[in-house]
Amino acid sequence: MVKQLVAAQNDFFATQKTKDVSFRKQYLKKLQQEIIDQEDAICDALYADFKKPKFESLATETQFALSELKHAIKNVESWSEPERVSASWSNFPSKEWIQPEPYGNVLIISPWNYPFMLAISPLIGALAAGNTAILKPSEFSTHTSKILARIIRKVFPPEYVTVVEGGVEVSQQLLAEKWEYIFFTGSTKVGKIVYKSAAKHLTPVTLELSGKNPCIVDDTASIKLAAKRIAWGKFINAGQTCIAPDYILVHKNVKDGLVKHLKQHITDFYGENMETSRDFARIATDKHYEELKAMLQGQPVLFGGTFTDKDRYIAPTLVDEPELDSTIMQGEIFGPILPIISYTEESELDTYISKYPKSLAFYVFSENKTFQKRLMNSYSFGGGAINDTVVHISNKDLPFGGVGASGIGGYHGKHTFGLFSHHKSVAKRGTWLDVPLRYAPYSISMDLVKKIKHLF
Ligand code: NAD
Repeated sequence: MVKQLVAAQNDFFATQKTKDVSFRKQYLKKLQQEIIDQEDAICDALYADFKKPKFESLATETQFALSELKHAIKNVESWSEPERVSASWSNFPSKEWIQPEPYGNVLIISPWNYPFMLAISPLIGALAAGNTAILKPSEFSTHTSKILARIIRKVFPPEYVTVVEGGVEVSQQLLAEKWEYIFFTGSTKVGKIVYKSAAKHLTPVTLELSGKNPCIVDDTASIKLAAKRIAWGKFINAGQTCIAPDYILVHKNVKDGLVKHLKQHITDFYGENMETSRDFARIATDKHYEELKAMLQGQPVLFGGTFTDKDRYIAPTLVDEPELDSTIMQGEIFGPILPIISYTEESELDTYISKYPKSLAFYVFSENKTFQKRLMNSYSFGGGAINDTVVHISNKDLPFGGVGASGIGGYHGKHTFGLFSHHKSVAKRGTWLDVPLRYAPYSISMDLVKKIKHLF
């Protein structure tokens, strides 16, 4: 089935229909309408998958996708225009430009943590750029996967866009095919498998991966507000956010204050009995739930630390000074558990930050501009924020993605269109003049060649 689908999409792309910008726009609008019509059903699916609170489903999934769609519909014509560049004088007479063109048939593989938004957002850019697409959502967010399949089936003919549901085997079947572009969001471990498959055909990729994101709080930070913004960024989606702060490095002079305010804000957000809060999600998979529980074993818990197997609940939890070689400090936590580690001298920070590969996100809370700047310049990371967490994702002009082990490529807004386009360079020469200098037999002096520099 996969082979036939890929062949059908390749045939459809070859008809050149997707090169027509009005065709793309028409389908983006249809997709927009269908998401609007199905918004409640999408939120219900997200709730069924991991009790995602409706506010979070609207804010971080459907409305996020709709905002990307609106932006793409508004701009797809201008994005698709060739971009004139100044012609090289050595080409005189000439006009020169960069012409975006679609790659062809693209594969998008998405994870379970923001299962709607992380499937639809790249798709929007892929279609705006004029590609055909096959989308493979995560097998762990089954309800969302089903509604994604239903929406796509209703809006698009399968030779243009199709959802292929299933797990690892299906993903492997898809990866065995030849694609013109692969966009993958998920773990670094699977990202390497995807990259290897893509290499067989020299297929370009975007890899949106994971990392262990540090959050540094110095002794000049506005502690109460820092605690509020950290608690929000960490516990939204029950900590299953790739850019959530993973661990806190706090100056020892302000640690007690930070912990006090974190506890207070968590209680303000989710109440005294956090398990009954309608605003706190559950862990999406059994495997991940068990891993998180295991991470907590033997850890000194400052707050939370409780769990309920029946619906994979883990309380917002603060862990005090974990050992660096404990499981919790080995890799990405990806759940509502926040280790808090104190430091005395700035020089100690590097012991922690440089222990891990380049992170996807990086946060600094400080009123000291020199300190902010030094940290932002010293470390390489995908993206980040000063005096807040997660918010850099909300600006479409900021490319969202990782670096090194946390990923390749950045998207959102026009950047997604750019990722899914090949930027073709074209020079259109005039024929009324043909400067003879470049042709053999070479008759100009070597000194003149050096002086002219750009002979062609
Ligand atoms: P995952 O890597 O396990 O799975 C992602 C996708 O890959 C799924 O569709 C899955 O079916 C497929 N897959 C899994 N194993 C495969 C294999 N062996 N071969 C081929 N395909 C395979 O990731 P996940 O558990 O679904 O998502 C959580 C991870 O994703 C976290 O590490 C998180 O940080 C990361 N993430 C990154 C971003 C980002 O934008 N950078 C966003 C969300 C999540």
